Amino acid sequence: VADYSAPLDDITFALVHHAGLAELAELPGYEHADAEVVSSLLMEFSKLAGEVIAPTNAAGDRQGVHLEAGIVRTPGGFADAYRQLVDGGWLAVDVAEEYGGAGFPVAVAVALEEMRTAANMALSLCPMLTHGAVELLAAYGDDTHRPYLEKLVTGEWTGTMCLTEPDAGSDLGAVRAAATPVEDGTWRVSGAKIFITWGEHDLAENIVHLVLARTPGAPAGSKGLSCFLVPKRALDADGTPSARNDVTCIAVEDKLGIHASPTCVLSFGEGGGAVGYLIGEVGGGLRAMFTMMNRARLSVGVEGLAIAERAYQAARAHAVERRQGHALGTEPGAGPSPIVEHADVRRMLLTMRARIEAMRALVYGTAGVIDRSRAHPDATARVAAEERVRLLIPVVKSWCTDLGVELASLGLQVHGGMGYVEETGAAQHYRDARIAPIYEGTNGIQADDLVRRTVPLAGGAVVGEVLDELRALAEAVTGAGGPLEDVGVRLGEAVGALARATRWLLDVLPEHPRAAAAGSSAYLRLLGDVLGGAALARVALATQARLAGGLEPDAGFLEDRVAVARFYAATVLPLASGLAAAATSGDGLVFAVPFERL
Ligand SMILES: Cc1cc2nc3c(=O)[nH]c(=O)nc-3n(C[C@H](O)[C@H](O)[C@H](O)COP(=O)(O)OP(=O)(O)OC[C@H]3O[C@@H](n4cnc5c(N)ncnc54)[C@H](O)[C@@H]3O)c2cc1C
Repeated sequence: VADYSAPLDDITFALVHHAGLAELAELPGYEHADAEVVSSLLMEFSKLAGEVIAPTNAAGDRQGVHLEAGIVRTPGGFADAYRQLVDGGWLAVDVAEEYGGAGFPVAVAVALEEMRTAANMALSLCPMLTHGAVELLAAYGDDTHRPYLEKLVTGEWTGTMCLTEPDAGSDLGAVRAAATPVEDGTWRVSGAKIFITWGEHDLAENIVHLVLARTPGAPAGSKGLSCFLVPKRALDADGTPSARNDVTCIAVEDKLGIHASPTCVLSFGEGGGAVGYLIGEVGGGLRAMFTMMNRARLSVGVEGLAIAERAYQAARAHAVERRQGHALGTEPGAGPSPIVEHADVRRMLLTMRARIEAMRALVYGTAGVIDRSRAHPDATARVAAEERVRLLIPVVKSWCTDLGVELASLGLQVHGGMGYVEETGAAQHYRDARIAPIYEGTNGIQADDLVRRTVPLAGGAVVGEVLDELRALAEAVTGAGGPLEDVGVRLGEAVGALARATRWLLDVLPEHPRAAAAGSSAYLRLLGDVLGGAALARVALATQARLAGGLEPDAGFLEDRVAVARFYAATVLPLASGLAAAATSGDGLVFAVPFERL
């Protein structure tokens, strides 16, 4: 199984050029995030990711997790790797200092997350969900929740999100778990929750479940939901976790990938009711959950990027080693060529590389916008950034996770038959990547949300502003001439297709929302492809100028940025007109074949 080595140069490049690290470090509260400090953080963490966490990945996949007498046993090496994450203080990098975090920008935390996830996605899900719990408690918690929050911030205890039930998946309004008040101010929670990630395990002394449940007399639908903190173990007077609460893990799922991440069926209240503490207001459960959704969806987008990067590293290593046939253009009689010399293998590798760079640009760029929405001193700028985040998040979540699956599949293809057998690890990446388009809001729901709620924001002004920026960029890139002229022209055409599809959506939405919904996935893909291509083109324009100045210390690194942008413009951007046609094809065709004859 190929190792993982964090691509520090690429990550740093994305932090500097796409997240805008230097400007972030000027925002109030982020002054300590200067380039030198961040660079040493990245360097330090890359060692932990590569040397300690990554080696647990394949073994964890093979061993999986096991439920023994109500306790989930994690694979060998996990406890030690997790302990090192906690002891090193790596889990609260972007949590505010007032809660015990390090107060770094989200963009910096995302860089660490990328490495941690590439190293071991199944393990990484545990701190990812804990982070969500921290965000929610920081926003809505009070003194009752404070002892839990403190332990979650360090990672000594871990958190879960308990939303899904057998009849309530995408439709959370159907949640049936119940919470009844008790005289002492606590609540008793009961009901069944399914698919709960890291819902039970042996890595931490306590687990803090955040549970969506319905209070007595609450209205039907999502307005009737409240959020409760339900600990696995209640706390003694001195704050030590002791007696087990009334929560049991009754099964762990057997599943396609992320075998080392326990996906639990949890039963609350079989013995009369689990003790729970209300968070925020009665009826405010879904609103509270939404505070951490953007950040959580960004993290899931990072999963697509991270798995694709690891799959790429494995494919590249294999393509250099494996020899088959004589590549066109090589000396006859020189012995079999490494497959990396075959044009089609090069196409696969460069497709992976270009898509990964585009994803990284979008992910880190979005993280930077989240930071501006939180820390910019000017309220108008904060609001503008928030609106931009709303537009970008469904794209980061869905576009990156769909690509994660596609690129893991390409990585497997580069391995040939050795990819299909488990020995090389390529198959594991493909299996692991497959969950990300499903959880944290399916990609279909993200696309629907994008076209029906976000595109029409402010009468289309939020997306309109993006289109204006893209047009200006395409013109500037075209104007640069030389090898970039083609990039600019293709970008201009792709932006034109995106603008046409956007106009169509805005026109049909009021009368025919189902027509917009039918093309939503194609539209989201189109927006992602164009934003990704634009980010690569922007950077290529800047690097081209630097290269023209000569004396660049690492000209090869910069030249590759230009080559990758040109490849993306030539092979991905032309897809935009087809995607725009699909996005605007309406709902008549998808409903043309009656359901009985599907
Ligand atoms: C490994 C794993 C880990 C998970 N971890 C957690 C966790 O920690 N906590 C938690 O609460 N949940 C968790 N989940 C649950 C996950 O979030 C849900 O599976 C997901 O939200 C989809 O719900 P569902 O499975 O009921 O699918 P459904 O809602 O039944 O969807 C089935 C299909 O119909 C489509 N669909 C449904 N409704 C619509 C609509 N309105 N418009 C368009 N298309 C629609 C969907 O896009 C999908 O393609 C996890 C699931 C898995 C498999």
